[in-house]
Amino acid sequence: MPVYLDHNATTPLDPRVLEAMMPYLRDHHGNASSVHSYGRLARNAVDQAREQVAALVNAQSTQVVFTGCGTEANNLALKGVAARLAVGRVAVSAVEHASLLGPARALERQGWIIDTIAVDDQCRVSMASLSEALEDASSDVIKAAPQIVSVMMANNETGAIQDIPAISAQARRVGAIMHTDAVQAAGKIPVDFPASGAHLMSLSAHKLYGPKGVGALIVDKSLELEPLLHGGGHEMGRRGGTENVAGIVGFGAAAELTLNELAVRSAHLRKLRDLLEAGLRELPGAVIFAECAERLPNTVLIGVPGIDGEALLMNLDRKGIAVSSGSACASGSGEPSHVLLAMGVDFELARRVIRISLGQGNTPEDVLRLIAALCEQIDYLQAHT
Ligand code: PLP
Repeated sequence: MPVYLDHNATTPLDPRVLEAMMPYLRDHHGNASSVHSYGRLARNAVDQAREQVAALVNAQSTQVVFTGCGTEANNLALKGVAARLAVGRVAVSAVEHASLLGPARALERQGWIIDTIAVDDQCRVSMASLSEALEDASSDVIKAAPQIVSVMMANNETGAIQDIPAISAQARRVGAIMHTDAVQAAGKIPVDFPASGAHLMSLSAHKLYGPKGVGALIVDKSLELEPLLHGGGHEMGRRGGTENVAGIVGFGAAAELTLNELAVRSAHLRKLRDLLEAGLRELPGAVIFAECAERLPNTVLIGVPGIDGEALLMNLDRKGIAVSSGSACASGSGEPSHVLLAMGVDFELARRVIRISLGQGNTPEDVLRLIAALCEQIDYLQAHT
């Protein structure tokens, strides 16, 4: 039996979520904007899902804007807010996902100044660097503090969790709009939109056993947001396009299951992670990154000096074990992860990492199989390189 240990890349669809989606794929084809009974049925389903997704993060349903993915939510947050402001400054952490760094770079091409907030060697945002980024700029062009601050709630590579309420408080102090990418956090730890202090929060269904191709941006009611997709008045004018009803229903079902089962799920993941880390500590020279930070209960990023991460990944794959060499987007590029470089990890070691991300379907046997395969493969690779 293959063993899947790459849940931060994506999770399998929960069969209960599929069951909830099926009527909207098979029978109920109405457009949620139509006023007839077909349309109303679809609209009711979307409205229910909006309540379910809002409940997952303790938000109000009117604050939920459904998007096509977490990437779109991150793009909408940055570009949608920036479009309503005069060109200025955006501060982002050095360890953000590509889907946040990409729109930040796009803003830079429009003249925005991007301030990078440093992290420490445990992948935690440095509060000193944050304060520095929030000070008035000395630039001749722009003298004000950043108008937008974006820091992710949990990192997809290391699993490190940031102190978002503290960071939001600092951002708000200078009048900035605070965004947090909670794509990896939601479903693994409790996420509370009002308590986070953020004005905007990104989510994605496929990281929490929902379908791919649906996400959400939670938006504080006070915010003016320019849509990325102009069109009909969908999503209260914040995102044009006919709603992906089945996908949204799936997101809602996944969110409700997550909320109800979160405590059980994280206890399961924590137990497996402890077993995994006990095994990894026996591997000579193995480093667990961000080990001292508060981390997601399912994520372990390790490096073994002298062992090529990509070769290890391929050899494990041949044995039916799926892990990642970093974030799914960066893997295959051969470049070391920007996250590890930001943490000050040596360039060579940063290229020699594998990420193990556990999920609900994993068992202690899966973990023991991985540890045995790792021992065998590391011996093999050390003997052959
Ligand atoms: N943000 C983080 C932290 C992620 O890990 C990912 C996906 O890996 C995304 C955003 C993008 O989400 P999506 O795959 O739904 O576009």
